Amino acid sequence: MVSLEELSAEYCPTANGMPMLGLGTWQNTDSEQCVESVATAIETGYRHVDTAQAYDNERAVGEGIAAADVDRDELFLATKVWKSNLAYDDVLETARDSLDRLGVDYVDLLYVHWPADAYDPEETLAAFDELYDEGLIRNVGVSNFEPEELEVAAGTLEAPIFANQIELHPMLSQDHIREACDNYDVEVVAYSPLARGAVFDRPEIQEIARKHDVSEVQVSLAWLREKGVTAIPKATGREHIEDNWKSLALELDREDLNTLDGIDATNRVVDPAFGPWN
Ligand code: NAP
Repeated sequence: MVSLEELSAEYCPTANGMPMLGLGTWQNTDSEQCVESVATAIETGYRHVDTAQAYDNERAVGEGIAAADVDRDELFLATKVWKSNLAYDDVLETARDSLDRLGVDYVDLLYVHWPADAYDPEETLAAFDELYDEGLIRNVGVSNFEPEELEVAAGTLEAPIFANQIELHPMLSQDHIREACDNYDVEVVAYSPLARGAVFDRPEIQEIARKHDVSEVQVSLAWLREKGVTAIPKATGREHIEDNWKSLALELDREDLNTLDGIDATNRVVDPAFGPWN
């Protein structure tokens, strides 16, 4: 087993330049705590941070980045435009507001947070194209897109769709979306990769964790990595941040992977009425 000290930023695989293990920050809203979580993660080796306009912590995320001793261009920073801000002018204005709050000149990835509310493929994506052409966003992403929404977006956006961020863990394998993403050459980013804690209660995951003497969380994250999926677990304190980082050293064997692939469950933990699947 590789120790934490041996795990450096270089150890983290990348997908098209995006580090495949990132830090999620939803509900890390206490500013002081959020600054500390982000700085701790970067010092641990994380180079990918995920936030959103709706998380109300972009300023703290930016301060955490500034506090860590790593150059901006070594980091992959992603944020998302909230569903009420998806009209053309609002995308342009609020994306700039996000950059201001984050204290950066560009983000590496800007997502459409949900295909809902003010989302209009022509109008919304034209604004994303404009931000892309201006260099304010390095990549365009979508989030919570089912194959139907992905197809429309791929036919509308001029820039490539870089990633689709969706809920994904061993109890929600989302095969149909991963297949669609593959077809469109779109990276998959797993949100709620720990099923918000539910991975601890699944007997198959418990058994594999016992076998390798690791946490259930690490099993879920290693399974995602094996699938070529980027994961952004949210962790607040050092202990969780480090535990999740150690998943990079966990190699699951064929038997483990078969067991995890065989979990027959649809345990969706983020399910608002405006989700396109509802
Ligand atoms: P998650 O990452 O599956 O789970 C987070 C929970 O697990 C927190 O309660 C955290 O506790 C705990 N945890 C983390 N590491 C742990 C460890 N090693 N041992 C035990 N517990 C651990 O859930 P999530 O926050 O829903 O998803 C992750 C990120 O995805 C979000 O933060 C956000 O950035 C993104 N997201 C995006 C969308 C979207 O619509 N695009 C939706 C949901 C989430 P502590 O906080 O106490 O460490």
